[in-house]
Order: sequence, then C-alpha cells, then structure tokens
Amino acid sequence: MKRVYLDYNATTPVDPEVLSAMMPFFAKSYGNASSIHSAGQEARAAVELGRASVASLIGAKPAEIVFTSGGTEADNLAVFGFIAAYRRERKHIIASPIEHHAVLNAVEALEKQGIDVTWLPISSDGVIDPDDVRRALRPETILICVMHANNELGTIQPIVEIGSIAAEADVYFHCDAVQSAGKIPIDVNQMKVDFLALSAHKIYGPKGVGALYVRENTPLEPIFFGGTHERDRRPGTENVAGIVGIGKAAELARARLAEDSARLGGLRDRLEEGILSTVAGARVNGDRARRISNTTNVTFAHAEGESLVIALDLQGVQCSTGAACSSGAILPSHVLRAIGLPKDEAKATLRFSLGRLTTREDVDYALQVIPRAVGRLRSISPSYSRAVPAQ
Ligand SMILES: *Cc1c(COP(=O)(O)O)cnc(C)c1O
Repeated sequence: MKRVYLDYNATTPVDPEVLSAMMPFFAKSYGNASSIHSAGQEARAAVELGRASVASLIGAKPAEIVFTSGGTEADNLAVFGFIAAYRRERKHIIASPIEHHAVLNAVEALEKQGIDVTWLPISSDGVIDPDDVRRALRPETILICVMHANNELGTIQPIVEIGSIAAEADVYFHCDAVQSAGKIPIDVNQMKVDFLALSAHKIYGPKGVGALYVRENTPLEPIFFGGTHERDRRPGTENVAGIVGIGKAAELARARLAEDSARLGGLRDRLEEGILSTVAGARVNGDRARRISNTTNVTFAHAEGESLVIALDLQGVQCSTGAACSSGAILPSHVLRAIGLPKDEAKATLRFSLGRLTTREDVDYALQVIPRAVGRLRSISPSYSRAVPAQ
C-alpha cells in the first residue's frame, strides 16, 4: 500500500546529511565536550560549530544560543528561567491563547502560583492583533509570549510589530519559533525578541534536541541544577551528536528555505483546492494568506476527526487532528476553540502538513482517499443525516 506522510508539523524524518554528520559522534568521537584532553576538544569544537550554525539561522550571536533537550524545554527555560531571574514585587505576563502546550501550560502553571496573566484575544482567522498586545500592557508587565507560526493552523503572528511594542514598553518577549524555523526567515534583531525557541526534529534533525536563543544580558536563571555547562544556563553533559544534528539541520534549513517553501506552497494549495472542490462543506481554518506554506487545517463537519485519522491511515494517508489526547479523553483543540469553532466542529478537523519528501503523486493519492473517507464517516453520522436528509 502507498504510504503518504502528511504530518510534518508533528515531526520530520532526519535528513540523510544530518544523520551522516551525527554518526561519528556516537562511537568514534565520543568525547565529553567539557573534558580538557583532545577527545574533549574534538567534541567541544563540534558543539561550537553547531552553535554557530543555529545562531546564523536566526541572526543571533553563537553565545546567545543555549542547547536544550527540545522545543518543550526551550519554552520552559524561557518562561520559568526568566520569571525566576526577574526580581519584582508584582509580575504580569501577556500570552497568546493559541501557544503550543509547552508555553501554554508553563504560563498556566505560573498563573496558579499567583502571577497575573492576560490571555490575548484572537481573531477568527487565528492572528493576534498587535493593538491588543498594547492594550494589555500594565506597569507590572514583564513578559509577552507570542509564537511565530502556529503548529495547527500555520498562521503567522505579527512578531515584528509585537516586538516593537515590547521593546518600547521595556517588556521582555519570548517567541516560540519551532514551526517557523526553516519555513520563513527569522531574524531575532528585526523581531526584537529576547527569547526564541527552536526544535531539531521539526527541521529534519533528531528528536530530543532543541535550542533557546537568549539575548545578551537578558535575565535568566537555570531551571535545572548541575554543572556550569552552556554558560551556567543549562547544566548536563552536552548531547554532542544531537547538537551536531541540529547544527546541520539549521544549515540545510537556511540553504533550502526559499526552494522548500515555494514548492510546498504549490503542493499545499493543490491539496487544499482539491479537498474544497471534492468535499461538500469542507472549510479551511486560519488566515489563508498569513500562513506558513506547508500547512492546511480543514473542518469536515459531521465527520469525527479521530475516526477520520484512523480511516485515512488504513488507506496509507497519515495526518492528524489538532486535538490533544489526555488521560484517554479527546479534548477539542484549544487553538480551534480559541478562534471560535464550536466543540463539534473542532473535533471534525484535520491538519495536513507537507514536507521535503512530499510529492505531487502523494497529494493526488491523498485527494483520492480523503473524499471517500469523509463520505463514509458522514454516512454513519446521525448529525449528518439530520443536517442533510436522505434524498
Ligand atoms: C513541536 C513543538 C514544540 C515542542 O518541541 P519538542 O522538541 O517536540 O519538545 C513546541 N512548540 C511548537 C510550536 C511545536 O510545534
């Protein structure tokens, strides 16, 4: 059976060039980057090359890059590490309601500890209005958290405008750029961010390694305790092979950005238009212009999303719902709820995300399979037969 992977926003395959760059650092060059002998120096050199490469993807200085165990840890380090370092009587945070759970749940945890949080309103198109950020500012505001590209909708937030507002108000700004890296250009100085999170496995690197950009002289306490690694910001023996991997992945992302995003935009539009023209009542969520080019998020009213994912998987097409599964209960996506979708529609929604290995044949195969799967699920849905009485 043909297998068509359309879930690149969940994770990507490791690029063969990334894999071969990493391989020597498992068994041959296995030194500890903190050792002073030559094996250690070899590992240290590889780590610093990786750091320079990640820095150059986002216009940062190498010393501003802190390696972590992934995007989740990078987000947590920014939020908790900054709050711990910034000594102030009253603290207020402004955050977007469509953040990834790595930011959302970190900010919610602080809210439970008594820190004031303003959750920004969001348009039905899935874009934050910078004026709402300005209106939410208070004298005690210390941090703004707004992601760059949303993982479910693909919508791109007005980060440059929000960065200027933050800088004018002397408020720190964290941006989760895990989904925008490699898809749209990132420049930490133009965006005026103080923290920016990246993850290797979303850009054809290995799972379990990420990076946090921390602007020079920005307050940050470590959230783990141990050695003095990463300039006292993140202890633990460096994941040398992983860091080499994220470095190579960043280098390839930079070189391939324009070509990848143009090609994927064409394929995504073909998929989207094909779905809209063959599936009655299908609707695209999120601003279709201000969006990363590999992602489409579609509601298929009266077709239950989780069942649809399984039905499509049986036909070889792999995609996802935006929904988070916790303790066996499928919750409707907080992103779709935030942009105003009712629960039943949020649960009838799929995300298709394309990537480097996606071909036109893949898209055409998916376009054969999707309308039939939706049709079958709708034919057994009581709500559909009520909404569309049998002829
Ligand atoms: C995947 C993802 C993360 C988490 O990154 P991990 O490396 O998987 O921990 C954070 N933010 C966004 C937007 C993501 O898509």
